Amino acid sequence: MHYISLWEMAEIGRIVRRRIRVRRDLRGYAMQPLPPDRRVQSLSVSELANTICSTHRDIYLSKVARVRPNRRERPWQAEAGTLTHKLLQALHAYAKQRLPTNGANFDVQTLFRRLKAYGVRQKNLLLSEYRDDPRFDGRVLSDLDSHFNDIVFFESLLTCALLTYKASRKTVLATGANIDPTQEFEQLFDFSAIEQNLSASLLGLTEPVTPDFLYARRVIGDIKTGAIQEESFLMTCVAYALAYEAEYRRNIDFGLILHIDLSHDHPFPVYQGSRLYEINDNARRRFTILRDQKLDVLVQRVEPIIQPDEPRCRPCGFYSRCWGGRQND
Ligand code: SF4
Repeated sequence: MHYISLWEMAEIGRIVRRRIRVRRDLRGYAMQPLPPDRRVQSLSVSELANTICSTHRDIYLSKVARVRPNRRERPWQAEAGTLTHKLLQALHAYAKQRLPTNGANFDVQTLFRRLKAYGVRQKNLLLSEYRDDPRFDGRVLSDLDSHFNDIVFFESLLTCALLTYKASRKTVLATGANIDPTQEFEQLFDFSAIEQNLSASLLGLTEPVTPDFLYARRVIGDIKTGAIQEESFLMTCVAYALAYEAEYRRNIDFGLILHIDLSHDHPFPVYQGSRLYEINDNARRRFTILRDQKLDVLVQRVEPIIQPDEPRCRPCGFYSRCWGGRQND
């Protein structure tokens, strides 16, 4: 997550300070509530944002026909995403705890060593639960192990480098005055937990709505792994922004997806799929159209057709159900 602070300093800082003009009736706190017949149904943020199935048959199968998706068709990616999230949160919380309040006691080399050691312990703990899990057979577990080591190294390095950079910019250091490393950390890595679960039933979303982070009090975000799906990422950010607006009556104009990928060729995690999204009128309208289409499937209970684009279906958990024996039709 500390990558986001670096990214803001280098690229997105000026962008996220801009004000975006948004029609008031497209803000989460002012949107028209769902009509009563649709309000009996709701969608989780991931159900809403999943854009693989163009006919919304996936929603029908999971929520009307109550077919369980075959998890083995998405063997380990979903778990890996949760583990990555836990590892990043743990590293952030640990770094914050270990900082002295007196700048004279700030020893960057010790912090770096401790962060790495703690991160590796956490990684071992997280992965130990999956040693006998068939979804993690073959190279999956060892690849993840090495990927998490890369994340630990990269995040520890960034934390220490950026903190040292920030401290070094303070002229008070030159005059012998003190700095408070904890305060510097909080300013630099300005991630707030969302203080309470977001209630968003009037928006058609299943509660609770739980974004991964709020950055600098103006950017709502989520951590993703696996395939890069731009439209799905955007819809995730819009859903979180609307829910946050509805709960706190504070405007959110940007969403950020921190996409962390594994690389076999580099000793560091790859953030190429990470993106900042503007939550503008167009994105908000797309959210309502998609939500209404999916809620209609739940209300009308008519089974949608199989979408004709078979390759697009391959990552779907209902692939066997829809395409079993039909590939050569
Ligand atoms: S396999 Fe294809 S048609 Fe069937 S639910 Fe999934 S995406 Fe939709």
